[in-house]
Amino acid sequence: MGRQFNEFKASELHCPKCGVSQPVRERASALHGSQTIELLCSRCATVVGHHTVIDHSLGGKLAKLVGKLLK
Ligand SMILES: [Zn+2]
Repeated sequence: MGRQFNEFKASELHCPKCGVSQPVRERASALHGSQTIELLCSRCATVVGHHTVIDHSLGGKLAKLVGKLLK
C-alpha cells in the first residue's frame, strides 16, 4: 500500500493504473449528510482514494440547531 495519511491533504498518491505516484485532484460528493472527497488521479481519473469529512461548517451547525428546535 501507499503512504499513510490522516489529516493532511494528500497531494500525490500511488495510482494502480499508471503504476506510479500521480498528483491527485479532489472531487466532492455529498452522501448521507456527510461529505465524501474522492481523490482522482490527475492523469487517468482513476479513484485512488477517498476520505469523509464531517460537516463542521456554519451551515451544518445551523442545520443541526434548526433540527433541534423543530423537535
Ligand atoms: Zn492514473
